[in-house]
Amino acid sequence: MAAASMVFTDCSSTTAAARLLPFTRTTPLLLRTTQYAVVFPRRLIHPPRTLSIHSSSSSPSQLSTASIVSENEKHEKSDTKLEIVNKRLDGKKVAEKIRGEIAEEVSRMKDAIGVVPGLAVILVGDREESATYVSKKKEACEVVGITSFEVHLPEDATEQEVLDSISGFNEDPSVHGILVQLPLPRHMDEQNILNAVSIEKDVDGFHPLNIGCLAMRGREPFFVPCTPKGCIELLHRYDIPIKGKRAVVIGRSNIVGMPVALLLQREDATVSIVHSRTKNPEELTKQADIVIAAVGQANMVRGSWIKPGAVVIDVGINPVEDKTKRSGFRLVGDVCYKEAKEIASAITPVPGGVGPMTIAMLLTNTLISAKRIHNFQ
Ligand code: NAP
Repeated sequence: MAAASMVFTDCSSTTAAARLLPFTRTTPLLLRTTQYAVVFPRRLIHPPRTLSIHSSSSSPSQLSTASIVSENEKHEKSDTKLEIVNKRLDGKKVAEKIRGEIAEEVSRMKDAIGVVPGLAVILVGDREESATYVSKKKEACEVVGITSFEVHLPEDATEQEVLDSISGFNEDPSVHGILVQLPLPRHMDEQNILNAVSIEKDVDGFHPLNIGCLAMRGREPFFVPCTPKGCIELLHRYDIPIKGKRAVVIGRSNIVGMPVALLLQREDATVSIVHSRTKNPEELTKQADIVIAAVGQANMVRGSWIKPGAVVIDVGINPVEDKTKRSGFRLVGDVCYKEAKEIASAITPVPGGVGPMTIAMLLTNTLISAKRIHNFQ
């Protein structure tokens, strides 16, 4: 059956099928980092007119003694491995462990060379959702001791003001990662703005050069995009082998599906990509030892799609109507968790699976950037 004709019932509920909800101001926020292309740093010509800059840093927490995750590093150390309990790949737990490791490294770097990694976020306008994203990122930075910088420009700011802010951060040696929170106001050229971010500080990893390097053998990108990196990191942390396995990625977006497929290939998996025009998604998916679903369709992947013993990573975050909740909705993934859990050997929950890993990888990328810029091992 063609995927497009599937009926996405709320299979995780025993009551009446829930309705899919569009995201609104009252629905929860997606942990989605921004997408942009970047160029090399350039000088700040005019200081922004109305920007307000806040920075915060805090002492790193003492969470873990394990070593930091580094680019494409395989986690061979036994003390970094987690045991799968009740088939659950617990992204929240892994992300907490990673935050502890980052905190250790931030502290070590500060003690050794007096440098604290810094992440800058540029927010334009007063969208409630965007403001909450930014504050979540700032909170996450504080927990691990990364300094966060924020520029908040008004909705009617000019494109030049945003570009000036980016230029300032490109030049600022205390900033090692830059995010422009999307969406931007309609009167701004998003690509133009995103192109202005220095590739060396592009912690989202979406620059064509980064993606190109990811796709090429023998090349290393500056940064690996956060959500795809989080998916692979989860597999590593649970010691789930990838090499030689058959993997199916459902979805081919620039921010998740395509880069995660590239990463799986780099890990020597044999990868197939299922998309909206794929004729036999169920049949293909059923051949996979590893399934990564990044579709944005609630409960699309049913238990019958899963090969017995497969590992399932569910990236999807979809609100479905739930009258039993005060908010009127709850979040579900792209995979029908209840059915798939019966068949799979391990599966990520939604929420609490890939979502927390995305922010953890953003912090990781910022640390990697700071280490690279300061040549700190
Ligand atoms: P997207 O840009 O909308 O891409 C969706 C992909 O799914 C497209 O490649 C599309 O195929 C494919 N697709 C759509 N309907 C399909 C169907 N019926 N059968 C097979 N393939 C289908 O979405 P995205 O940005 O990748 O996000 C995907 C999901 O992940 C969303 O739920 C999003 O909220 C979530 N997400 C979560 C995180 C996190 O941190 N946990 C981060 C990012 C995204 P075509 O290319 O053919 O159109």
